Amino acid sequence: MKVLLLNCGSSSIKYKLYDMSDHSVMAAGGIEKIGSAGSFIKTKLPKADKTLCDIPDHNTGVQLVLQTLTSPENGCIHSLDEIDAVGDRIVHGGPFSESTLLTPEIFAEWKKCALGLAPVHSEVQAKSIEAISKCLPNVPQVGIFDTAFHQTIPEHAYLTSLPYEFYEKYGIRRYGFHGTSFRYVLQRSAQVLGFNANEKRIIICHIGNGISVSAIKEGVCIDTTMGMMPNDGPMMGTRTGDMDASALLFLMEKENLTPAATLDLISKNSGLLGISGLTNDMREIVEAAQSGHSRAQLALDMYCYRLKRYIGAYAAILGGVDYIIFTAGVGENQPPVRKGCLEGLEFMGVQLDIETNEKVYGQETVISTPDSKVTVAVIPTDEELMMAQDTMQVVTKQK
Ligand code: ADP
Repeated sequence: MKVLLLNCGSSSIKYKLYDMSDHSVMAAGGIEKIGSAGSFIKTKLPKADKTLCDIPDHNTGVQLVLQTLTSPENGCIHSLDEIDAVGDRIVHGGPFSESTLLTPEIFAEWKKCALGLAPVHSEVQAKSIEAISKCLPNVPQVGIFDTAFHQTIPEHAYLTSLPYEFYEKYGIRRYGFHGTSFRYVLQRSAQVLGFNANEKRIIICHIGNGISVSAIKEGVCIDTTMGMMPNDGPMMGTRTGDMDASALLFLMEKENLTPAATLDLISKNSGLLGISGLTNDMREIVEAAQSGHSRAQLALDMYCYRLKRYIGAYAAILGGVDYIIFTAGVGENQPPVRKGCLEGLEFMGVQLDIETNEKVYGQETVISTPDSKVTVAVIPTDEELMMAQDTMQVVTKQK
C-alpha cells in the first residue's frame, strides 16, 4: 500500500509518500511561502531539488505536490492511481479521539467545530483535504488529529477556571497537541524499554520548537501542558508558554496592541528568542551561553526551570513516576537541557547518568543510572510513520 501524508501549515505543505510494505519513504519534500513572492517546492526524495513556482494558495500547492510525485524528473510513481490512501495531519481535532476516515459527513462535522476553534490552521487544512478529494476522488483520506491522544484527560484537568458557561458556549478548554508524537513515543518506549504502559506512570517531554509535556497513567493521557491553542506550558522557542493573563491585558492597554498583534507577540516573538534577544534555536542558545552571553544563559536557565516545574507537577498528579522520556529536536539532541531540567530531582528517585547523557544525540538510549528508581530515556519521535500506520489501519478496517 502506498500512503501519501500531507502536513499543511498556514503557508506551507510538507509531504511524504510511504511504501507501507517496508515503511520506506519514496518521496519527501515541501512547499513554502504559499501566497507570497518567492514561493517554491523543494524535494528531498527521490532527489534533492528546488524550483521557484507561483503558488497562490493551498489548492495550487496540493496540485503541484501531485504533479511532482508523477513528474519524470523528481517523481517516483507513474500514475496517481498508485496512491492508495492519503493521511492528513490535522492540528485541531476538537472532540475527535482517534484517526478517522474523512467521509463527507465526518469532514463537515470536523470543519464545523475546528474552524471555530483554530481558524487559521483549520482553514488551510480543509482546503487541502478538498483539493485532494477533487484530484483523487476515489482515494480514501484519513484525518490524524494532534489533539486526539489527549481526549482521555478528565474534566477537572481540561477545564479552565473561567465561568463554566464559556466552556459550553465556545469550547474553551485544554485540548493538548503533539498527540501523534506522544502515541508513537509511548508505543516505542514500551517496546524498547520492555514495559507495559498500562502499569506504569510515565512523563513524556516532547521538546522541539513547540513543547508539550504529558502525564500518562494506565496507558492514557491524564494531563498535558498545551491548552486550547498550541501555547501554554513550558517556555518554548518563540512562544511564552504559560503566562499571567492579566499581565497580557495590561500590556495590550499600555502598548495599544490588537488581539492579532498580541497573538504574534506571545507565539512568534517570546520564549528563547524574546529573552535572549538572539535566536529561538537551542543550538545557538547553548553555544552563546557557553561563550558567556548572559541573556542566552538566562533564557536557557528559564527554559530548564519551567520544564522541571512541569515534570514535578506531573509526578505529583501521577502519584510518582516510573519513566521520564525525552523526544523531539531538543529532547533528543540537547544534553544540557535534559540535565538542566532533571537537576535536583534526586529526591524523586531520578539519577541521571551524566556521562551517558552527554553522549546521546538522537539514539534510543537509557540515560539514567542502573540504580535510578525512575528510568530516564531518549526515544526519538517519528510522527510521520505513526500517521502512515494510522492511515493504513483505518483504510484497511473499512475494506
Ligand atoms: P519543531 O517543533 O519545529 O518540529 P524540532 O523538533 O525540529 O522542532 O526542534 C527544533 C529545535 O531542536 C531547535 O531548537 C534546534 O536547535 C533543536 N535541534 C534540532 N536538531 C538538533 C540537533 N541535531 N542537534 C541539536 N539541536 C537540535
